[in-house]
Amino acid sequence: AAKELGKGQARFYDPAMECEIPHKLQRERELVDAIEREEFVLHLQPQISISGDDCLRVEALIRWKHPTLGLLPPADFIIIAEDSGLIIPIGTWVLRRACRFAAQLLNDGKKINIAVNISTKQLRHPDFYKTLTDILTEESFPPHLLELEITESCFLEDLDAVILLIQKIRKLGVTIALDDFGTGFSSLNYLRKLPVDYLKIDRSFIQGLEIDRESQAITSSVISLASELNIHVIAEGVETTAQFDFLRCRKVEYVQGFLFYRPLPMNILLNSFGQIKVFNDQNKLN
Ligand code: C2E
Ligand code: MG
Ligand code: MG
Ligand code: MG
Repeated sequence: AAKELGKGQARFYDPAMECEIPHKLQRERELVDAIEREEFVLHLQPQISISGDDCLRVEALIRWKHPTLGLLPPADFIIIAEDSGLIIPIGTWVLRRACRFAAQLLNDGKKINIAVNISTKQLRHPDFYKTLTDILTEESFPPHLLELEITESCFLEDLDAVILLIQKIRKLGVTIALDDFGTGFSSLNYLRKLPVDYLKIDRSFIQGLEIDRESQAITSSVISLASELNIHVIAEGVETTAQFDFLRCRKVEYVQGFLFYRPLPMNILLNSFGQIKVFNDQNKLN
């Protein structure tokens, strides 16, 4: 049927069937090369402590320096990496790169806590714990300065086994943050069972704060419940002062978002180190 359409038209015949799949395969092949050539970089987004009393916290966010397309965000390749299994080597690279960077900083007397996003597939890989401990040892990085961001989907299967694994990881001193909270299957009740140190309220709720009462209600209850359970709260995706005021009034401990900082290349973070902790308009870099 494709032939009947004429020369060179085949791939445009049915975008869903004949364009997307080759595109995915192409991307996947490029990703294999990208791992080989280390075409990735980490950008770091500061998390601002409202009480301002602890060391600088940043989240590492991967970007792909694609040879022809420029800097690609994770949305353009993480799902492909997860589906193909390439997330394992990529995730290992991210973890090592993050620990190495923060360890170098520490050597220069600059202490940061670095959070790394871990895909469910990566966490559940049988080698994950060993990879993690190997990296911490090889990079001489103190575990208590590393945080792993996982999502609720980690707990969808084998809940007990995952909880045991996470408890083992926390015994190392590594902290755990539950990312995108509120978007998954979570009931507030089951949060009680999960061994997490931090909870990140998903951006969608923060963005709803000025728009709907539901987002306000959910955000407020999550904050107070977390505090009852001794879980620290981070609000992600804070873009406006109105959102920030709402969160501050409800005693959120950490805020992260474009209102304060965008994810920054490592050298920029280094250059502005020391000025970052305080939140005021002068510290907005973008
Ligand atoms: P996430 O972990 O929830 O990260 C937060 C995302 O929100 C980041 O997008 C960040 O740039 C963006 N963001 C932060 N503040 C704001 C704001 O105020 N407004 C808006 N509109 N966006 C904000 P990014 O870097 O594109 O990452 C997207 C997702 O990709 C991440 O969501 C995470 O799930 C995944 N990801 C990023 N890096 C990695 C990685 O190294 N490994 C894995 N497995 N996933 C990663
Ligand atoms: Mg995250
Ligand atoms: Mg998130
Ligand atoms: Mg996420």
